[in-house]
Amino acid sequence: ERPCPHKPKPVFMTPIDKSAVETILRPLDLTDDHYRRLMDLMTEDIVKGMNPQTHPAANIKCFPTFVRSVPDGTEQGDFLALDLGGTNFRVLLINLNGQEVKMESKIFIIPQHIMLGSGVQLFDHIADCIFKFITDHKLQGKKLPLGFTFSFPCRQEGLDKAVLTVWTKGFNCEGVVGKDVVELLHAAFKRRGDMPNVKCLAVINDTVGALISCAHSDRQCAIGLILGTGTNACYIEDLQNVKTWTGDDGEPRQVLINCEWGAFGNDGNLSFIQTDFDKAIDKHSINPGKQIYEKMISGMYMGEIARLAIERLRKNHLLFEGEGSYHLATRGRFYTKYVSEIEGDDVTNFTVTRQIFDELELTNHNEQDYRLVRHVCNLVSKRAAYLASAGIACLLNKMNKKEVTVGVDGSLYRFHPFFHDLMMEKIQALIRPNIRFKLMLSHDGSGKGAALVAAVASKLKDKDDR
Ligand code: BGC
Ligand code: MG
Repeated sequence: ERPCPHKPKPVFMTPIDKSAVETILRPLDLTDDHYRRLMDLMTEDIVKGMNPQTHPAANIKCFPTFVRSVPDGTEQGDFLALDLGGTNFRVLLINLNGQEVKMESKIFIIPQHIMLGSGVQLFDHIADCIFKFITDHKLQGKKLPLGFTFSFPCRQEGLDKAVLTVWTKGFNCEGVVGKDVVELLHAAFKRRGDMPNVKCLAVINDTVGALISCAHSDRQCAIGLILGTGTNACYIEDLQNVKTWTGDDGEPRQVLINCEWGAFGNDGNLSFIQTDFDKAIDKHSINPGKQIYEKMISGMYMGEIARLAIERLRKNHLLFEGEGSYHLATRGRFYTKYVSEIEGDDVTNFTVTRQIFDELELTNHNEQDYRLVRHVCNLVSKRAAYLASAGIACLLNKMNKKEVTVGVDGSLYRFHPFFHDLMMEKIQALIRPNIRFKLMLSHDGSGKGAALVAAVASKLKDKDDR
């Protein structure tokens, strides 16, 4: 493009139109009234999810998990664990010995064509990875109970029976919805025919893993929260409130409930806070109309929300003097990690921010742009943290226990510079004043949790076999 001689570029920075910026970004800035209204709606939806009459149409399904108690610290032995549905697919070998937990793990890649391929391909790939892991660790021939952290909505019919109800996040494999994932996994083992000693004894959600692994050292832990690629929470509920419970009703009279809160808003009841950016993200996703709350919060979408806001500002000549780039215009190209990095950057030199702008091949930028992009990132992550806080506050108020620890895991929570602080502040503001809470980082909950649950299951099984 040749420079136009009649329209010289302004040499000096133009003062940006504050009110124009404000108009574009205001919808991202919610008030406590919004958050309180959301909590009321969520409380209603959770009750609906646990009642057999209203469950079929409920957004928040609140699946009972068949995990009834947290581990007592006496679990022992070697276990395999699978962690599927987060940022990484991992196979783990876990040695439990009371409070002591030793762990080795390997990350395997699930290529996009498998994430969007057939279920048979997916489970064959998983079986191949497990086989490779077993041979690498010289474990062939050893009896290995396996715990499977499968981080998708499942209707559980037992600890080792989990029927997928719908795919979420980046997955959409044909022929899995409506099927028991343990059966599909065992069928893949059988097709290989060379791993007769591996048996899946338990399937858990990653939220359950976070709760269980934290409860292993903190008995007050009663909520598990994931803020990663997706978002979800689980909590300990009294059996009398779980009208959908069909299992045995002996002691302890409680069960872990996998809320599947990501689907909150699927019936449109969050439209009072959805922005144009949220609507655009939903429309272009692989699951339009689904996981509305998740799309406003989690790591798979946060960067894209920021990108859309930045692009809107840019198109209005409020950023980069209107000059964009191919990358900035590309869906999904402004990664959520950029949001964390920009917010963590040093404002005296904006070194990281500049580097990101270079990566995006933006050429026209100055300090005013750095500050405004940082402000956008702040708004997007603050809203995400506060929305998740409202969810946790809703659960805390519902449980109404004096002291609760929340076990938290997920890449978003882990890597964002102040997600934790934002949440501490907002949960405190939204809960009843008599409740005390802690947010505790779960270390490798998906691996450790799955192994602990598999250990409990294998103890029970040994008893039955005798
Ligand atoms: C899934 C949940 C999971 C969450 C966090 C959501 O998309 O539906 O099962 O717990 O992501 O990984
Ligand atoms: Mg994970």
